[in-house]
Amino acid sequence: MKINYDIESQAGLYIHIPFCLSKCGYCSFYSIKSIHLIPEYIAALKKEIKYYRNFFSSFDTIYIGGGTPSLLSVQQIDDILTTVNKYYKINRRAEITIEVNPGDVSLEYFQTLRKSGISRLNIGVQSFDDKILQLLGRRHSAKEAIAAIEAARAAGFDNLGIDLIYGVHGLSIKSWKNTLQKAVSFKPEHISCYQLSLDDRAPLYKKYSSEGWHLPDENTELKLFLTTAEELENAGYMHYEVSNFARLDKFKSRHNQKYWQHIPYLGLGPAAHSFLNNKRWWNKAAVKTYLNKIAQGKMPVEDMETLSTEQLQLEALFLGLRTKAGIDLNCYKAKYGVDLLADKKTIIDALIKNKLVELKNGFLRPTRAGMAVADSLALI
Ligand code: SF4
Repeated sequence: MKINYDIESQAGLYIHIPFCLSKCGYCSFYSIKSIHLIPEYIAALKKEIKYYRNFFSSFDTIYIGGGTPSLLSVQQIDDILTTVNKYYKINRRAEITIEVNPGDVSLEYFQTLRKSGISRLNIGVQSFDDKILQLLGRRHSAKEAIAAIEAARAAGFDNLGIDLIYGVHGLSIKSWKNTLQKAVSFKPEHISCYQLSLDDRAPLYKKYSSEGWHLPDENTELKLFLTTAEELENAGYMHYEVSNFARLDKFKSRHNQKYWQHIPYLGLGPAAHSFLNNKRWWNKAAVKTYLNKIAQGKMPVEDMETLSTEQLQLEALFLGLRTKAGIDLNCYKAKYGVDLLADKKTIIDALIKNKLVELKNGFLRPTRAGMAVADSLALI
């Protein structure tokens, strides 16, 4: 794909690939196994890409997520990106990420992906322990995860992210530390560590109930969180968001930061969300409905909401306190018309006293202990 260059773009583009060969035990996202629909899906996606050309003009991040994007051939991914490039300008320093499952990839796959303009890989490793992978219902082994990382490097990818899961039954703090050390040994530019959570739609939920297993209690959760932060910071990573670590500033996920900062983004595909001019809209979740709508020449939008300044303000508070950088108080005031320090003085003073947040250089930011309870901090 030949990329048209443009430097003023700020918006991000998310492209959803809703296919998975099997269901991971912890997953309650909607996805389907019918991969024979992929060609039809791509044709529909290309129509949706074209539709928004009067609303967005350019992007400086593209994120192909899922589902399992690596079920697509490189030609299919190239076809999607070429269509994006036909209707929009893509910043020449664009971050173009694709999520991949270690079970799908090879050196050749990565080599051709690079030629398509993909600059960043996010590999769904989750664990380097086969027993844990089995319990999580992943369809790849630890050996395949390592082979995928090595193949990505051999293909020349220099911006690599690894996803890991902790808080799994049978994974002690010691084995979690080993997992982190193993991950660090590959020097990925980015590591995301997610604490296992299960809702009753996740297949593993039943197993936990029937075996009498429990998710970690509050104390263990905190220990796991702090161990993760310490291990990765000692290895030279910045803990820049509750679940995210980057080796350098330039390796923070630029795409995800748009979600946290109310920067416009366009989401394409079933259930994808978009945000522009204080409006958020989202697509219908079922693939069949999505395909039918597009075949009828209609947009597959499920609903839209206009966010009030108060809603935006609360979201900015919630998302900002999940990040190490925290909230730029002057920007916050200029954007949402609220002097946060004056408005929430009593509670902010109490949080500072309890060492959960701190004020530094005009920023209100969470301490490490504050990040561990970031979701409740935002309830101020
Ligand atoms: S976790 Fe990811 S790969 Fe697994 S079923 Fe869910 S969407 Fe698919």
